[in-house]
Amino acid sequence: MQQAALRPTAIRIDKPRQLLVIPWNDGVTSEYRWQALREACPCAGCRTPDAAPAPDPLQLVFKLKPAKVAKLEGAEVVGNYAVRLLWTDGHKTGIYPWEYLRGLAPA
Ligand SMILES: [Zn+2]
Repeated sequence: MQQAALRPTAIRIDKPRQLLVIPWNDGVTSEYRWQALREACPCAGCRTPDAAPAPDPLQLVFKLKPAKVAKLEGAEVVGNYAVRLLWTDGHKTGIYPWEYLRGLAPA
């Protein structure tokens, strides 16, 4: 018996509830709050360690601000392993592999 690789059967953006809804191919459906997804953005720009010294205090303000206002604009499947999330503030470098998404706490 070979287990099928984990992957979504669909990717839905629920705008009224501000959720990303992903039914997986193992029968589980996960719902993620947009805010939580944005805070978990795996891109290099968002993953800068908090402990790193800030060269310019203004950059801190710049980094913290988008997470509060961003709304999910769209989602694009990348290859067959991940989804790229597009945010209304223009941020689109976050690529979320299936396993990473599945490991995030659902809404
Ligand atoms: Zn990011």
